[in-house]
Amino acid sequence: LLSIENVSKRFGENEVIRGLSLDVKAGEFVSILGPSGSGKSTIFNLIGGLLTPDEGTIRLQKESIIGKRGSISYMPQTPSLLPWRTILHNVLLGQELQGNINREKAIEMIEKAGLKEYIHSYPHELSGGMKQRVAFIRALLSPQPIILLDEPFSALDEWTRLGMQKWLLDIWDSHRPTILFVTHNIEEALFLSDRIFVLSHRPSHVISELKVPFSRPRNEELLLENRFLE
Ligand code: ATP
Ligand code: MG
Repeated sequence: LLSIENVSKRFGENEVIRGLSLDVKAGEFVSILGPSGSGKSTIFNLIGGLLTPDEGTIRLQKESIIGKRGSISYMPQTPSLLPWRTILHNVLLGQELQGNINREKAIEMIEKAGLKEYIHSYPHELSGGMKQRVAFIRALLSPQPIILLDEPFSALDEWTRLGMQKWLLDIWDSHRPTILFVTHNIEEALFLSDRIFVLSHRPSHVISELKVPFSRPRNEELLLENRFLE
């Protein structure tokens, strides 16, 4: 579905990515792991069309998407909520851009994320972790075939994070969106994804690719057991 070939990117003297290649199949859940500053968010900005590579190709269904925004659903590392819009209207934003609004679904997801009483609040009234969940829901509700999630749970406490991980897996199980997930957390990557790409230090490229060799536990007790009883 998505194919990145031999991509390089530098910012002035700072060579961030050199010769990076990776591919993602439709319906896969892929994680990208790498040290801080190795260029994970830069890769997402390249895929999302916010930056253009110096070299290489980025293709979605064989078509170049270099510099094209809007063909992918992207939750950036820092949630970018519009301060003058309520939580509900921030969530609906992604759908509005695509001309396909499902208000009931948005409300249901906001409630499921534990934000029921904030539905008509404004972003400044929310904590960092709450804003992160709003951006997460917005990304999930966008009708694009690929969802990029850049450390979507980094600001959450362990318990909330577990709930969100479980929810994300349920969504993935139910309609198989293609997901690219950036995390620092190796355990989280192993738990969630089918395949993991590990990046080197700058200038970064894929140094190893791991196919997660076990199937995920599906039932909730088992999940809890895995996470907390080791
Ligand atoms: P972290 O795990 O801390 O989020 P990361 O792997 O996502 O790190 P990036 O944010 O992609 O790392 O940054 C990689 C390098 O690119 C850093 O040296 C950063 O300073 C540089 N960089 C990223 N974006 C820009 C930009 N727009 N202009 C200049 N330099 C940039
Ligand atoms: Mg980053």
